Amino acid sequence: MSPISYNLQAVRERIAEGARAALRDPRNVHLLAVSKTFGADAVIEASDAGQRAFGENYLQESVDKMAAVRAARPDLSLEWHFIGPIQSNKTRPIAEHFDWVHSVDREKIAHRLSEQRPAHLPPLNICLQVNISGEDTKSGAAPEEVAALAKAVAALPNLKLRGLMAIPEPAEDTARQREPFRKLRELLEQLNKEGLGLDTLSMGMSADMDAAIAEGATIVRVGTAIFGQRTYAR
Ligand SMILES: *Cc1c(COP(=O)(O)O)cnc(C)c1O
Repeated sequence: MSPISYNLQAVRERIAEGARAALRDPRNVHLLAVSKTFGADAVIEASDAGQRAFGENYLQESVDKMAAVRAARPDLSLEWHFIGPIQSNKTRPIAEHFDWVHSVDREKIAHRLSEQRPAHLPPLNICLQVNISGEDTKSGAAPEEVAALAKAVAALPNLKLRGLMAIPEPAEDTARQREPFRKLRELLEQLNKEGLGLDTLSMGMSADMDAAIAEGATIVRVGTAIFGQRTYAR
């Protein structure tokens, strides 16, 4: 077995274990393989091991990678999720190339994505990124802004609002890790009480996916545990 398919198998078992411990159906926890900084070959290797959904942070890198994967495997049908910070002058390629965007944190970005979504494609699936730990430096909407933002995004024609995403401050122990994930879940529940019908909590990475699953994650975004350590000197 290649390292990537071995790691993928281990991550799938970790998800199944976490779901069982939380009395949840493992089929409700989807694995997003975060392939940023890794090449088309790594994506193809993971897809050969059954992985379909891939997460990317850097626009140019991801568009190049998609083209390389398509050239090598024209018949492969993958799902691409944009999870990185979004500059408002870079929305068009995101609207054209991706199936999901997890990092929408302001209305202006959502408007542009909806306007620029090509008519022949299905609506772009959207998660609102929430600054759940309240750090000044992090991107994400403040929790108290989320309801208004959600209503505005839900009204846009070419987007489909699916739920919320967060990247909490790192914490060592599981109890501390669970706190922000619980807050994000409660925020989603509140929005659903207001009738938004959201089904997605995008939370949990290699270091804290177990805590996220315990609090109701429906998508975990996992890079290092699948592809290994990233080197940013590119
Ligand atoms: C890089 C990244 C991940 C994956 O992180 P790992 O710790 O490598 O699993 C998940 N989500 C976002 C938004 C990221 O930027």
